[in-house]
This record gives sequence, structure tokens and C-alpha cells, in this order.
Amino acid sequence: MQKKLTGAEIRQSYIDFFIERGHTFVPSSPLVPGGDSTLLFTNAGMVQFKDVFLGTDQRPYTRAVNSQKCLRVSGKHNDLDQVGRDDTHHTFFEMLGNWSFGDYYKQDAITWAWQLLTEVWNIPKDRLWAAYFKDDFNEIPEDDEAASIWLKQPGFNPEHLLPFGRKDNFWEMAETGPCGPDTEIHYDRGPEFCNLKDVPGHICQVNGECERFVEIWNNVFIQYNRLSANDLVPLEKKHVDTGMGFDRVVSILQNVSSNYMTDLFMPLIRRIQEMTGHSDQERDENLTPYRVIADHARATAFLIADGVVPGNIGRNYVCRMLVRRASRFGMKLDLHQPFMAEIAQVVVDEYGDFYPELKRNATTILDNLTREEKQFHKTVDAGLEHLNELLRDLKKKGKTHLNGEQAFDLYATLGLPLEITRDIAQEQGLDVDNQGFAEAMEAHRLASGAGKEFGEMGGEDVDIYAKLAEELIENGKLDKMGVKYSPYQPIREPELILALVKDQKAEFSVESGDQVSVIMPRTWFYVESGGQVSDTGSIESANGDWRIQITGMRKPAAGLIIHTGEVVQGTPKVGDLARLLVDEERRNQIMRNHTATHLLHAALHDVLGSHARQAGSLVAPDRLRFDFNHPQPVSREELLAVEAEVNKVILQNYKLNITQKPLQQAIEEGAMALFGEKYDSVVRTITIGDEQALSYELCGGTHVDETGDIGLFLITYEGSIASGVRRIEAVTGWRAYQIARERMNIFEDINQYLGTSQKEALPKIISLSDALASANKEIEKLRIQQVANEFEEKFSDLDTIEGVQVLKAILPGADMDALLEMADKFRQKVNSGIAVLGSIYQEKPILMAAITEDLVKRGFHAGKLIKQVAAIVGGGGGGRPALAQAGGKDPSKLSEALDQVAVYLKEIG
Ligand SMILES: [Zn+2]
Ligand SMILES: [Zn+2]
Repeated sequence: MQKKLTGAEIRQSYIDFFIERGHTFVPSSPLVPGGDSTLLFTNAGMVQFKDVFLGTDQRPYTRAVNSQKCLRVSGKHNDLDQVGRDDTHHTFFEMLGNWSFGDYYKQDAITWAWQLLTEVWNIPKDRLWAAYFKDDFNEIPEDDEAASIWLKQPGFNPEHLLPFGRKDNFWEMAETGPCGPDTEIHYDRGPEFCNLKDVPGHICQVNGECERFVEIWNNVFIQYNRLSANDLVPLEKKHVDTGMGFDRVVSILQNVSSNYMTDLFMPLIRRIQEMTGHSDQERDENLTPYRVIADHARATAFLIADGVVPGNIGRNYVCRMLVRRASRFGMKLDLHQPFMAEIAQVVVDEYGDFYPELKRNATTILDNLTREEKQFHKTVDAGLEHLNELLRDLKKKGKTHLNGEQAFDLYATLGLPLEITRDIAQEQGLDVDNQGFAEAMEAHRLASGAGKEFGEMGGEDVDIYAKLAEELIENGKLDKMGVKYSPYQPIREPELILALVKDQKAEFSVESGDQVSVIMPRTWFYVESGGQVSDTGSIESANGDWRIQITGMRKPAAGLIIHTGEVVQGTPKVGDLARLLVDEERRNQIMRNHTATHLLHAALHDVLGSHARQAGSLVAPDRLRFDFNHPQPVSREELLAVEAEVNKVILQNYKLNITQKPLQQAIEEGAMALFGEKYDSVVRTITIGDEQALSYELCGGTHVDETGDIGLFLITYEGSIASGVRRIEAVTGWRAYQIARERMNIFEDINQYLGTSQKEALPKIISLSDALASANKEIEKLRIQQVANEFEEKFSDLDTIEGVQVLKAILPGADMDALLEMADKFRQKVNSGIAVLGSIYQEKPILMAAITEDLVKRGFHAGKLIKQVAAIVGGGGGGRPALAQAGGKDPSKLSEALDQVAVYLKEIG
């Protein structure tokens, strides 16, 4: 091999090689798949081209090359437990791919693959092996076309061509749909890499499961459409879909034994080593934590750059889990302070040229990581301690699995993600009930009303609609692209009813009261996307015979759009002509809110900074909701500045400029793309402002013509929805007027009551409340004065019973404190005596008894005395011999109760 190429050079040489062969470079789509709610993260290069293969979308090119960001931490492809424990598994990785959409086929794909590997990258030919498809069930034809092309490659060893069956060399997207044979290229690292030499029965060959042969490239030839388990039909247009694990191929070209030793990872590993101060030997003794931290730092940097910040559920949970898991592994290296930002900075430096989103969002990435680590540190000690207790208990009882409820509780209350709990349990030879955890999390999520976070997952009814779409296209009722969708242009002419679906069945006619789905050749009802809710309205027969109230819109299968609702009049039939009546007043409200959302987004960037990126939004008729990344509450001044800026732009009455242009151009021009949205290669852009765009976004939503159409814009709410994510709610147009009017009415009522003008109201309220406070203080003073006066009066007239000086007095208005004060006064004033004081406080009788020391010595006891007295008012009490208090229920018997003093004295004396 020649001089070692760097990882960046290898990536670029792959891309250049295919650009020279007529391919268009298509940038990686985000880690969050656009418009595909069935998939948590992009997990393969083909995800962004899925629609092209399904035939529901087209691109302006037929050859593409890319390097796709992928994440595998959930679902079928979940390598998390492996990450860090071996040389090849990662959560985040890049996949290189070249694509033919009905253009070149096996001949070029295989020839080019061989050329790139052996002539550009100079991999020795005798190290390469090829596997091709030969059906182990003898039903699908053998791919002898691929086999014969391989045998023609210059220098290819014919003995290195091996047939494999369906498991290894037949690719399917799903149970039905596009599929075909593939050919894999494997690299022989040499017999010394076999780690299964001593395993009886091990055959050291391609697909032999040992570490000697590694698959580096898979070329898939999509040539069939699978209709059912036994029914394959050849496709008219055949495609090529290839995928090459980038990290792995770099490890081969750089001649190192582990992906982690390539220059894709070593700078990260070295930074960790600087922080731990380890020698190379110490580092190698702790490989797992080093690898986990490097892998997770790379994954989380890319995730946050794509708008996925740490949080509680779904994708955000994954980000949180990765940060915390890395942090826990850091503790094994004695890293007890936040350190992820340091490693992520290296990721930004190393990958930022090819993936500029890393550089653009660098501050957001670093801040989020540090904040999440700090939050984790607050509870981690308690969490680990509690977990260890649970595990000890488990072992004592001879059990092997921690139950899911307990694991969820550890997460919900102490912030320990399942994956960490599992790591630790496994380190002690135990495990966790994953299913139980998932159920507990689901139950909790449903209880907190956040279950819709992932949007519609498609229903059990997908099949019937897929079949229906196929039929309608086959018999020419719909063209190949399916239902025509034109939400921007009203459709006023009547259209044919193509199909009616009721209870999962296609019906010829339906009746009043039925819940139905309606399919028409085209529609202008908006279907929920980009946060904008679906339109509602009605579909009515052209001759006025029947009417269906439309409450929902959906795309249940490729090419199909359905209107769902209830028949409220007549009997609609397939073939009837009908009008599509969108509720236009509601649509107008939605449009005002949507355009205002763009202005709000721009104003937030202006006032708070460019990190305040959209993290979710809802555009409804009555309000708009906008979630964005920002580490602290938005201050009142900032909120007012944002609101003022939006209103200023509204008053400028800018005309909205809506155009179509290539995605790449729009991104380069700085158009804002929204989180979780899917974009075609040609995108719709919305620009607001004159020469200098105030707002520039990619958007498929419906908008007002001029900003003035929005009317008033008012922010009604600002709060937090997750750590680092804020939410603003706002209203526009008539709703904003209503809210402003309601609030002014309340204010006017206040002014009228106070007899003030607007500006006087607040000072007046402040002065009234000050006056009230000082009046209350005065009352309190007078009350105590009054109690004291009453006491003095009664004191001047003491009884003597059984030779003892006695004061019995009711002191109206006194509370317990005042009674205590008077009791103390009594004991100071007399040398020898007994006082029993009562009062009615908050409508209940209260009592206090005090006895001087000399009488206590003679056997008198205030506690016993007060008990006897309080019994009369239906209460109880007690205390020390010298002082005791009590409460009661019946205030009317207070004076009768005080007569008990004489009874007591006679008993004792
Ligand atoms: Zn082997
Ligand atoms: Zn928009």
C-alpha cells in the first residue's frame, strides 16, 4: 500500500471517484429522518432515498453518491451493548454509498467497486473476496449475472467468489416491496486475526463469524417487487443501492487492527488520555471506557447538531442516555467533573469541515453536554447506591433479573437510564427486565399525555390502503404518483369520488352517520406536516344531495391521501361528483399563525442568538406553539423585544416571496431547515423582507400573502419543556384581538371600581394595599392594648378562695400568645396566686392557667387544673405544674368553665 490516506481523504476519494462517473453528490440527510415517523433515527444510507425506490418520489438525478450519518441504538439494529467492548461496533457511524435509480446496473457497479478498491485505494487483490446470491430454497434465480461480472475483473481470483443464500445475500426493505440479490465484498485480514481457531468445527472463511474476514461493501441490486411471501415480480426500473462502513474501511486502509485506532477516533482517545493523565499502557488496560466515551461523544455531538438535545423521552432520551452512559464510564477513569464538551470539541474540529452543522452549532453542543453531565452528577450517587442495594437484594433472593418497574423508577426518580442500570447489573452477572422497563415507560408516558410524541405510526389499516392505491393506479383512476396534492391553490371544480372506505372495507356507497374515508383524484385539504395541522371542512355532492363533514386528513400509504369524517346528510356513492370545501376561515387563521411562526423564529435568533433553533412546533387555528433550544428562561425584556420585533415586521406589510429551488442552494444561502422535516431535492422556500431577508425558511406550509394579513401578534406563554428546551405560545389576528380585548375589559373594570385613570391604577392599588397593611398593624396594636387593659381591670379585683389569691378572667380578643403574656404578668405581680385566663379566638374557646412556685410546692398543678376547666368547653389540654394551656369547642360555656377553678381549689385545698 502507498502512503496512508487520512480518513477525510478516504471519504473524499470515494465521493470524487463516483462524481467522475456522473454521480451527483447528495449531502447526508439529518440523523432525524424527515417525514418518517416509523423510524427513530436514520440507520442506513438508503433512508433518504426510500421513496425513490418505492416509486412515490423522483429526483432530478439518476446517479447519486453520499456519506450518510447513521445512528443505531434502538430497534432491530441495536449494537449499544457491543459498543466499547469490541473494535468495530459504534452507535454513530458514517455509511458511504453510491446509487443508481434506474440507471447503471450490475456491470458498472461491480467494475467500479473493483477499480476503486484495487486501483485507487490499492488494496491487494488477493485480500478481496466476493459473495453473490444463490438461493438456498431454489426458488429465486441465482445471480449468475453478478458472478460472471466478478470473474471478468482484472486480477480477481476466481476461487474468491462464493455463493451464499437469502440470509447473507438477498436484501429486502420489508415484508413486501422492492428487493433483490446483493453482492458483498469481504477483506481478508490474515489468518492471525482468526479468534475462533480453537473452536471445534470453525471453518475459517467468508461469513465464518471470526474476525479474519470483514465485510466492507455491499452492493444491492434491486430488481424485484415482492407482492407476497411467494410472489416476486421483476421491476421495470432496476436500481443499485450500495453501502460501505466508513470506519471499517478506514481501519483497513490505515492498516490498524481496530476502528478506534484510525485517525477518526485517535484524536478523541488522545484527548481523553490527556484528561486522565494515563500512560499508553494504562490507557490500553482501560480500553472499554475510552472507546465508549469516544463513541458516545461523537454520537451526541452529531445528535445535538441535528437538534436532538438531552431529554426525557424518544430521541431526546437516547441523547440523554448516551451522555450519561459516557459520564458513568468516565467515573471508571476517575473523571468526576464534566468532560464531554472537551471530547466533543475534538469531534467538531475533526469532522466540522465535512459536516458544517457541527461548527454552526458548536456552542449548543458543548453547552448541552456540560449541562446534562451536571444534572446527572446531582443524582448519580444516590442512584448507584440504590441500584446496588436492589442488586444485593436480588442476589440474596437468588433472582437474576431486576424488574422493569424498579429499573424505570431508578430512571424516573434518580435519573439512571436503563442502559446504565443494565451495564451495572451485567457487570455483576445479573440482568434487567427490558420489556418491563419499556412497559413502565410507556405507561408513564401515556399517563403524562406525551404518548403522541412520535406522531402517527401508521395503523393496522396500511394494507387495505396500499392495495386500494395499487388498484386505483392500475385501472387508471389515479396516475402513477397517486393523489394530486395542491394545498396552495383552491380546487373549486367538482371532482369524482374514487373510493369510500368504512370499517376497513371499500364500499360502493355509505350512509348518514357512517364514519368514512374519502379518496379523490386530487385535493387541496392540507395534510398535517411541518407542525401545521390538517385542514377540516366538508365534501359535498355537486348536486347538493349529500354532505360529509371532514375532520381529519392522512397519508396512509404511498400515493394515497384520505379525507376522514362523518356522513351528515344523504348517501354518497363512488363515482359521484363532489366539491372539496375547505373551512377557509379556519385555514386563514392557520396561515396567519404559520407566517407568524416564521417571524417568531427569526426574532428569537435576533434577540437570543442563533442557538435558539426550532425544536418542534405546532401551527393550529387558535394558537401557535414554538419549541426552541435555549438554556435559561427568556426574560420579560427579551420576550417583549421578540414580540415587538414580530409586530414591526407585520406592520411593514412585506410581501411573502415563495419560490422553488434546489435544496443544496437553499441551504448554502442560509435558509433555515426545520427539525424532523423531510425535504426533497427541490424545495419550497419562504422569504420575508426586502433586499435583506428577515426570515428565510424551507417550508411546505400555507402562508398569508403579506405580513400585514397577520394582524396583531401576542405572546401568551413562555416556559420550559425539557432541559435546555423552551416553549413559546402566541396568538394572532382575531384571537389576539379577543385576548387583548378580554384583558382590557378586566382592566377597565378595575379602573372603574377604583375610580382611577389607566396610569393611576397601579399606584392606587399599591397605596391601598399599603394602607390596609398599616391599618392591620394598628388593629393588632389596639387589640393587645385592649387585652392588657382588661387584664389590669380584672387584676385590681382578685378573689380569694380557700386562702389563695385567684384571678379568673375572660380577655376578649386575646390569642394564645396574648394569654401567655398576661399569665407571665400575673406571676410577676403576685407573690402567690393562681390565674386562669380565657378567650374566644377564631370562634373557639382557649384557656391558660398559671400557678406561682410556692403553690406548686403545696401540690397545685396547672396541667390538672386546666384539664378540669377545659372539659366544660368540650376540650382538653395539659402542661407543666406552673403553666398549662388548653383549647375547646363550645365558646358559650367559657364563663361556666372558669367556675371550675373554685371546685378545683376546694378539692385540693
Ligand atoms: Zn477464522
Ligand atoms: Zn413553515
